[in-house]
Amino acid sequence: MCAHGKNLYNTIKMEIGKYSFGIGDRFGHQGKAQLSALLKAKETGIEIVPVWNKSNREHGIVGTSPADVKTEADESVKSLGWSGEYHVDADHINLSNVDPYIEHSDFFTIDVADYILEPADADKKNAFLQHNRKYIGELNIPGISKSYQITEELLTEIADKYLYATQKAAEIYRHISSIKGEGLFIPEVSMDEVADPQSPVELFFILGALAEEKLPLQTIAPKFTGRFNKGVDYEGDIQQFEKEFEEDLLLIDFAVKTFGLPGNLKLSVHSGSDKFSIYPVIGRLIKKYDKGIHVKTAGTTWLEEIIGLAAAEGEALELAKKVYRNAFERQEALCAPYAAVIDINPEALPSPGSVDGWSSDKFADTLRHIPGHPDYNSSFRQLIHVGYKVAAELGDEYYNKLEKYAGIIGQNVEENIFERHLKRLFDL
Ligand SMILES: [Zn+2]
Repeated sequence: MCAHGKNLYNTIKMEIGKYSFGIGDRFGHQGKAQLSALLKAKETGIEIVPVWNKSNREHGIVGTSPADVKTEADESVKSLGWSGEYHVDADHINLSNVDPYIEHSDFFTIDVADYILEPADADKKNAFLQHNRKYIGELNIPGISKSYQITEELLTEIADKYLYATQKAAEIYRHISSIKGEGLFIPEVSMDEVADPQSPVELFFILGALAEEKLPLQTIAPKFTGRFNKGVDYEGDIQQFEKEFEEDLLLIDFAVKTFGLPGNLKLSVHSGSDKFSIYPVIGRLIKKYDKGIHVKTAGTTWLEEIIGLAAAEGEALELAKKVYRNAFERQEALCAPYAAVIDINPEALPSPGSVDGWSSDKFADTLRHIPGHPDYNSSFRQLIHVGYKVAAELGDEYYNKLEKYAGIIGQNVEENIFERHLKRLFDL
């Protein structure tokens, strides 16, 4: 069935494990606490591969470089005696910014969102249409009861929307590959930061086009239905999500066989932290079909730093309040780059003056993501989430406190990942 006479699986020399968890760490101090959550999961019998991810935007704001993430990962692994696989993810890169990551990363999230709807070459488009005309009519995917109606118009629409993006993904892949060596890193393609979700049938033809370009994809991050706001729960129709997620799993299986894509190809859920209401759905479905998953968290470890500081009381709590005050005063500028992925209700934000009077518990409980807790405030949480620039600007004032209160902060980081995320996702 493979269209290329070559199974792309055979080119892989580095293969990501079945379950993996993307741990962003904006300020680079929590690697060990994050890893200890995965060690705890391992003790319960489930192996989850840690992937330290940091985007170009985060590096720019915090003033770090890709080498720092690699150092953090290596040191955490060494100090905790982690014997398993781990990776460093160049998160949301493209051709213009990938170079500084190549030496220090072995997982590349190739972001093609900006290339969607750009026109592909006429020749390429014709080849795509010719190739896929055999699917015109009813497309049946094993395990999915309904059939998909494929028409010339639909194929043309998919080509116009996604073909150029798949070619750019391959161009970026080849560039990385020419430096790192073929098969020696994990390629992910992401198209999550766009307005419209990709339908399962679109995803099928996108995978076909990526295979045609000989990109040995191991993870794919589509935009799912519903809102994946940063650091808060899923908002949308859970039943619709479940239906599409299940279809995506089945069609990936079918695409792997049809196009000769790597057999470990799995879905990657971006902005995946805190999506508590869909974790049981994801967990149940990947178990049902014996599939892997990559969940990329949205850098919420930094919120645990603020929670830990609040919990430490005294000068640490004062610093947490100062961060909120600054974030509150600059909310417009801080929110702008994240406008598409946050939903803050300004009326729900407490005034900095009233927050100044809060106890340690009140501050921590307002920020900590415990659904149903009377003090939990998702607007407060989202504002602090995008406010990490404030802490970055505080420089040593912030870093010194991170070090001074490392114990209590680390406890919060570990508990957040293990208790609230991994337990729900993997039913531990
Ligand atoms: Zn993403």
